[in-house]
Amino acid sequence: MEKELPPLVPGTLYLVATPIGNLEDITLRALRVLKQADLVAAEDTRHTGMLLKHYGIQKPLLSYFKFNEARRSEELLERLAKGQTIALVTDAGSPGISDPGTRVVRAAIAAGFRVEPVPGPCALVAGLTASGLPTNEFHFVGFLPVRSGARQRELARLIQLPGTLVLYESPHRVDRLLADLTELAPDRTVVLARELTKRFEEFIRGTAKELHARFREARWRGEFVVMIAPSDFGDSTRNTQNNSSAIRRIDTSSS
Ligand code: SAM
Repeated sequence: MEKELPPLVPGTLYLVATPIGNLEDITLRALRVLKQADLVAAEDTRHTGMLLKHYGIQKPLLSYFKFNEARRSEELLERLAKGQTIALVTDAGSPGISDPGTRVVRAAIAAGFRVEPVPGPCALVAGLTASGLPTNEFHFVGFLPVRSGARQRELARLIQLPGTLVLYESPHRVDRLLADLTELAPDRTVVLARELTKRFEEFIRGTAKELHARFREARWRGEFVVMIAPSDFGDSTRNTQNNSSAIRRIDTSSS
């Protein structure tokens, strides 16, 4: 079957989405592109090396991460100019979404190279679509500033927006985020999507105030997408729903 599929286009940068936890979440096309590309540019070559090994793929890897993006982008463009095909991946999910990738994409477009997405997992889409919150208008912000003054100001601005607010947050700052939100809008509906696609995936729903109190008791761990309902949203999604026992998964998290 693979023989009937078109070969990769020389001089193309492929943005390949990879699993955010469950190793079954990779598309057939992503696997083919990873197999056929001349090079895989990866955020963490060790992590991606293990992923490729899992799928039986052996490929030269080049590191491409936040702090070497500028230098590496030039190198990747030189390779594209030679007609090579490059698959860009990050540690998890879609490249460029709160992850490296944007710089080389812009540079490749400016230099006239093809950039082709190979869509797949993305925590924001997985979380939002199962949250029960409005999806017709949403604002994805990624990570808020780390410094408390700046993040509080940013949060105060963002919660005025219509539509669902979608944030990424590191596990040890979720408590702080819920505390800030409780000060600003204690009765706002919030959904925490925890450990998406992994064994302990759950959607935790409640008001900011309730979730803050529960977080203090439960100290949930793992990765989170935090979704904040618009101010005019009702409370129809507030049951806690724990999917962990219902879904068979391959847990790839190291913790
Ligand atoms: N590029 C990735 C994507 O497409 O979703 C996001 C990478 S960003 C560096 C990592 C953040 O994404 C985490 O801190 C968390 O907020 C969110 N995230 C990634 N995987 C997740 C998962 N399995 N469950 C919940 N949130 C996740």
